[in-house]
Amino acid sequence: MFLKYVTPDYRVKSLFDITPRWLKRNGYTKVVVDVDNTLLPRDKNLVGPRAMTWIRQCHQLGINIALISNNGGDRMKGITRQTNLGCVMRAAKPLPVAYKRLVEAMGGGKVLFVGDQLLTDVLGAKFAGHPVIWCQSLGGQEHFITRCTRKIEKFLINRLNANGTMPKERVL
Ligand SMILES: [Mg+2]
Repeated sequence: MFLKYVTPDYRVKSLFDITPRWLKRNGYTKVVVDVDNTLLPRDKNLVGPRAMTWIRQCHQLGINIALISNNGGDRMKGITRQTNLGCVMRAAKPLPVAYKRLVEAMGGGKVLFVGDQLLTDVLGAKFAGHPVIWCQSLGGQEHFITRCTRKIEKFLINRLNANGTMPKERVL
């Protein structure tokens, strides 16, 4: 029962394996991306050229991108300035409050979430009733709470693999 809330709809190696064309073709014109270890490593302040290009290519196809993070402060402000994207900081994922706010701010309808953690990004999106893509962490040093929840995550991954519900990693 709980497992269905931590089962991603799709699984990719990285954000950059989600092509803007695939998003468009599948009607995902509103996408919310987790910041830390999804858009850029948690220990970096600058959004890389690859991420900037991905955002630009999405915009060119009419895909609206927003950011979500459980962190805040100057680093996050800097990231929203660089990308010029809307962002909900201190989102308290996986609680549903920020999801509701984001979806409303994006005009409602179908919204796709992308993130690197089963227990925040995937659980939050599924619990709020939205499709979600799970990607591998970009590997930046993690918060100590995350290092603890990664142990639970590992257990869940094994369960999902064992019952055959974990999606195969692919390029979309
Ligand atoms: Mg993350």
